[in-house]
Amino acid sequence: MKTVLVGVGQAGGKVTTALAEYDDEMGFHAVRDALAVNSAKADLQNLPLETVLIGQDVVKGHGVGGDNELGAEVMQRDADEVVNALGDKIDSATEAVFVVAGLGGGTGSGGAPVLAKELKRIYDVPIYTIGILPGRDEGSLYQANAGRSLKTLAREADSVLLIDNDAWRESGDSVAEGMASINERIARRVGLLLAAGEPIEDRSLGLGGGGVDRDVAQSVVDTSEVINTLRKGGLAAVGYAESPASEDADDNVNVVTSTTRQALLTGTSLPDATAADAALLVVAGRPDTLSRKGVERARSWVEEETGSMEVRGGDFPLETDAISSLVLLSGVERSPRIKEFMNRAAEAQADARDERDEGAAKRDAAASFQNDELDDLF
Ligand code: GDP
Repeated sequence: MKTVLVGVGQAGGKVTTALAEYDDEMGFHAVRDALAVNSAKADLQNLPLETVLIGQDVVKGHGVGGDNELGAEVMQRDADEVVNALGDKIDSATEAVFVVAGLGGGTGSGGAPVLAKELKRIYDVPIYTIGILPGRDEGSLYQANAGRSLKTLAREADSVLLIDNDAWRESGDSVAEGMASINERIARRVGLLLAAGEPIEDRSLGLGGGGVDRDVAQSVVDTSEVINTLRKGGLAAVGYAESPASEDADDNVNVVTSTTRQALLTGTSLPDATAADAALLVVAGRPDTLSRKGVERARSWVEEETGSMEVRGGDFPLETDAISSLVLLSGVERSPRIKEFMNRAAEAQADARDERDEGAAKRDAAASFQNDELDDLF
């Protein structure tokens, strides 16, 4: 999928950089161009991307702190500048735009929905977002911001691919190491999804450990299958797992099915998200080790597990000793993790208001974050 990325805010810029670097390293050429936007000058300085500083008149390059309403305001004020910078990047070959942001902060949280709305007004290609949810141990301001941002994004963007910061964190990582390795994992998984529709010739993919070469020009999963899977909009998630493969395809029936189970049951970007409206299964591996029977069984299992009759599937032939399963899930708003998150956001909002106004505020906030309200959006 020929993609232009726009990172908004600190997390947005870093994750966009990780995705663009991974795509470049692998020679996928799915990421055609990238831009980073922020109201904090310092957060743009070390990014190897073209950048736009917004809100200079208001916050003088110092950022909006955790104020996502101010984040939305500065994006609105300077949207023309961002759109102009993107005008040089989005062209007739572009198949999708991804706006990337951490939803718990200020600039990305407030700015991403405003930018998505603006881009949808201008372009016909799908405007997707990658939204990073704060982990459980992040403060209540982050939770409340993310709840509010998520609801707006779900309305404005064509799909919101959610990544929970707790999902791919390794225990024992420090916060800084944690972020770097989470970003790397996001880049590999989402990067593979973007590449899945691209014809690839003779390049090293680096999956499953050591370098691997893919020497066939083939596009087994088509970009349109990714777009059709995301067509209904709403919230999406991605799951990933990889396992060592046997030399012989017949021995890999169970490897394909068990890796797919792992991808969906323990490897998703949104833990416990399995019920979905539509899904896409991409199985990557060396063509002579990929078991057709295994892929077909895995696809049927994904149908059962997601409760969706709309499960697309295909292979991604690579020269590698591993077999990897990537599962894109679309329409995951009913998942327990979303409910839990929206409750947490509601509590956080209520706690903040309680400081000013005890009692009624909690009921108001809880009511404003009812899950059925999120459901109503779709
Ligand atoms: P902004 O610059 O005002 O948009 O705020 P941030 O991007 O710092 O947003 C804060 C949220 O993003 C918090 O939930 C952070 O945990 C998360 N975050 C910040 N940096 C990163 C990063 O590099 N990677 C990931 N995955 N999350 C990040």
